[in-house]
Amino acid sequence: MIVHDPAPEDLPYLRRCVVLARHALEVGNEPFGSLLMLDDAVLFEDFNHVSTGDDTRHPEFAIARWAAENLTPEQRLAAVVYTSGEHCPMCAAAHAWVGLGRIVYATSSIQLVQWRREWGLPDGPVSPLPIGAVAPGVIVSGPAPELLDEVRALHASYAGDAPA
Ligand code: ZN
Repeated sequence: MIVHDPAPEDLPYLRRCVVLARHALEVGNEPFGSLLMLDDAVLFEDFNHVSTGDDTRHPEFAIARWAAENLTPEQRLAAVVYTSGEHCPMCAAAHAWVGLGRIVYATSSIQLVQWRREWGLPDGPVSPLPIGAVAPGVIVSGPAPELLDEVRALHASYAGDAPA
């Protein structure tokens, strides 16, 4: 697997994902947001919906499902998925199963695990494997240091609101 740094032209899309993540937080969800881009057009975007009680309601998973229903295999391969936080193994698998293209993330799963441990929170129920361990054929770019503080603050806010 090849991991690149996000390019300057990726940053506006990552910033949009952070806006979506902030909205997710404001309506009671974990702060994650993602979007699907094809040919310089944003086709679909979503944010985390775990406040529904369904902990699989991740935006990257919704993107994979949307892409499977609405795009040809060629379009899926050419599409780019931007996300505020690196795909979890469930979403990385869904991304690979539907044949989507490059992933660009603002912060990594390892960063999130380290923050949660700093805040005294338990590890989640799923191993925080990097995308490359789950979907080795996917080209990945991230993290973006420019957005680290903002994303970390969103997760800190969510952690502060979570029951002890
Ligand atoms: Zn996920």
